[in-house]
Amino acid sequence: MRGSPTGEIFLDDVRIPQDQLLGGGVRERGHVKASLASERVGLAVMSYGIAERCYEIARDYALQRRQFGRPIAEYQMIQSRLARMYVALSNSRRIVYADWIAGRPLHESVADVCAGKLYCAEMGTFVAFEAIHILAGNGYMEEYVVERLARDAKLIELGGGTTEMQILTIARELLAAREPPGLTPGGEGHRSTGAKRPSARGPKSK
Ligand SMILES: Cc1cc2nc3c(=O)[nH]c(=O)nc-3n(C[C@H](O)[C@H](O)[C@H](O)COP(=O)(O)OP(=O)(O)OC[C@H]3O[C@@H](n4cnc5c(N)ncnc54)[C@H](O)[C@@H]3O)c2cc1C
Repeated sequence: MRGSPTGEIFLDDVRIPQDQLLGGGVRERGHVKASLASERVGLAVMSYGIAERCYEIARDYALQRRQFGRPIAEYQMIQSRLARMYVALSNSRRIVYADWIAGRPLHESVADVCAGKLYCAEMGTFVAFEAIHILAGNGYMEEYVVERLARDAKLIELGGGTTEMQILTIARELLAAREPPGLTPGGEGHRSTGAKRPSARGPKSK
């Protein structure tokens, strides 16, 4: 990301006194998990913002760009791309606004946070590359912003844990809970609805 210069730091043979450790050190891993959850929520919001801008640029370009005597927005295959971009965008919007910005606590379920980040990140990349396709040659050029937005979108599939790490984390939480996160009674990071799940064997015979 151009607005965020990135470099590596190396720490060799560094000894830190116990009272200087950030967040209480390795024994307080909850602090690290909470930071990661906040980062992942923020990244999902960034993906949504990137996708929204890409969609707007592609829609406006399609309405204005003329080929074979008419705006390319009149061609059904361009309409199909725009419609699919909008579907992805509206689903990401629901995740970002309905659950998180509307006040649901961030750390109710690690699986939910990872699921939101995973979905929004992949949709951000999808929408950004569709925008490049609609702008075609111009989309690939640096002078049009969708080229940069697409690179930024891809970063969000990597930072804060790659797609694979989101999947592993989701699966680990689902399998540890043996219940969908929202239905698991008690336990850190889970909501309890009090709902009982039906037995897989059906009702007990009397
Ligand atoms: C622009 C930019 C900014 C960044 N900013 C920061 C920052 O501010 N702070 C920070 O800490 N990091 C930052 N990062 C680093 C980023 O978090 C890492 O790139 C990311 O976590 C992946 O680590 P890695 O690059 O070492 O890939 P690797 O760990 O080498 O992974 C390579 C590939 O293998 C896959 N993989 C690895 N292990 C498994 C597994 N067990 N199962 C399946 N697949 C696996 C990965 O998903 C990935 O696709 C930044 C990266 C970029 C590109």
